[in-house]
Amino acid sequence: MRTKKDYIKGLTKMKRNLYFDGQLIDRDDELQMRCLNTIGTTYDEAEKPENQDLMTAISHLTGERINRFTHVHQNKEDLHKKQDMTRMLCQKVGGCIQRCMGIDATNAIYNVSFEADKMNNGATQYHENFKKWLTRFQTEDLIGCCAQTDVKGDRMLRPADQPNPGSYVYIKERLKDGIVVEGCKVHISEASVADEVLVVPTRALRPEDKDYAVAFAIPGDWDGLKQVVTIHSLREREHYQRGFMPGSTDSYMIFENCFIPWERVFLAGEWQHGGVNALLFALFHRHSYSGCKPAIGDVILGAAALAAEVNNIHKESHVREKLAEIIMVTELGYAAGYTASDLGGPQVFMPGKGFVPYGPGSFIPHSIYCNVGRCLSGESVWRESEILCDISGGVTATFPHEKDFMNSETGDLLLKYTKRNPNMSSEDQAQFWRYLGDSLCSATGGIRNIGAYHGGGSPIMEQIAITTQYDIESRKKLVKYMAGMSGGDREALSKNFTKTK
Ligand SMILES: Cc1cc2nc3c(=O)[nH]c(=O)nc-3n(C[C@H](O)[C@H](O)[C@H](O)COP(=O)(O)OP(=O)(O)OC[C@H]3O[C@@H](n4cnc5c(N)ncnc54)[C@H](O)[C@@H]3O)c2cc1C
Repeated sequence: MRTKKDYIKGLTKMKRNLYFDGQLIDRDDELQMRCLNTIGTTYDEAEKPENQDLMTAISHLTGERINRFTHVHQNKEDLHKKQDMTRMLCQKVGGCIQRCMGIDATNAIYNVSFEADKMNNGATQYHENFKKWLTRFQTEDLIGCCAQTDVKGDRMLRPADQPNPGSYVYIKERLKDGIVVEGCKVHISEASVADEVLVVPTRALRPEDKDYAVAFAIPGDWDGLKQVVTIHSLREREHYQRGFMPGSTDSYMIFENCFIPWERVFLAGEWQHGGVNALLFALFHRHSYSGCKPAIGDVILGAAALAAEVNNIHKESHVREKLAEIIMVTELGYAAGYTASDLGGPQVFMPGKGFVPYGPGSFIPHSIYCNVGRCLSGESVWRESEILCDISGGVTATFPHEKDFMNSETGDLLLKYTKRNPNMSSEDQAQFWRYLGDSLCSATGGIRNIGAYHGGGSPIMEQIAITTQYDIESRKKLVKYMAGMSGGDREALSKNFTKTK
């Protein structure tokens, strides 16, 4: 397995195709270092003997020990460990660990490439090609990102009906040795610090959308690919350092006449599997949220409890109610992910058919529980910010800059007048408000909330998944029976419940 140092060294060898604020930048540009340190934590922690069980796995392809972020889930235990590893790492960096998109896309393509080959009766070798790609991904301990979200143009038009055909990434040309793709994927997290980009479709497709059913993996600096990057960093501190300084990036990925050789193509025209690929990445990613969102809940809970303490209101009953609210959402999100792992299996939910076997036998978390967990915790981000804002008062918005605390004319005065709780040092109180201002009042804090709300699919997407997959009819039959109406069935629900398991 690699070290963080090897990872960063690898990035320095990549070609320059990152555009930031009008300039071409290197992958190890100072601007990206916060992000590299965040994602680099996944290497540092994997080296620790006490983390071996959680952070590493034995590859089912090579039998070698690998970083769990490159693993294909072989059983329920793997799903549980991925959830717990994600929560543990997000706690270490106080937010998103940024490596889950690769493992989620890898697990999705692993299954879809197998099913597409099966449908093609051996005419394609997507799955074998993917296994070769995966072996290298595991052995070299690479970072992957997932480019799913297309620019999508007019939201009311399907891919093939768009005036700009590149509104969704599509196959522009089919050649003997590969395909040529064009289009643009947006909001792609950590693409500027990833070794490999996994590209998957974004939505369900019709036969006429077949050129949009395309999945492939390429290095982040591939010919024909430009990345326009936004880099999210907190205001630098000179005097009062934080314990950990996080960073993240998102890219617009522009593919123009981009040639992909067949060995890197894992779906090319099988529209029936395009939608499943989109759904499966989203499903694995929503399962990742059941690890990261509880960790963010841990951090928000700690911040809310400390804000109450700094204000010396921590024994008030309204504070207790608000802390309880944060804990309930946090642990319900975790419990949903735990159940999704425990009810996981080599199967997916197909509308009209229920759960059907899918893929070569790797484990897929249970769809209902992934979706309810992510929807609940995703929608709660604004309420959690509201609680932090409520308990803190206005101080996070207007807290003076650090140099005013260093200035001999204002420093002592500020410490004197910002002191609230008599049992906590003025310096610690000031340091806490600086931290909370980073979270609540910075561009990064705003981006975190929007990412937590829309990332992995907007809540509406989860609501569609839940209501189309949940057997509402059997609930109606049960109530009809209870009410003494015609068409009632006392057993309808218990039959259904057994089936979903
Ligand atoms: C910080 C951040 C990080 C992200 N990271 C990644 C990543 O790493 N990889 C990745 O692939 N994606 C990523 N995403 C993208 C994320 O998955 C999308 O933002 C999400 O799926 C919503 O898509 P959208 O932003 O295009 O919004 P839209 O789809 O434009 O949604 C806007 C509104 O329009 C509505 N709407 C859209 N289409 C229709 C329709 N046909 N009918 C009715 N209503 C409609 C939606 O319900 C919503 O209310 C990230 C997003 C953020 C904010």
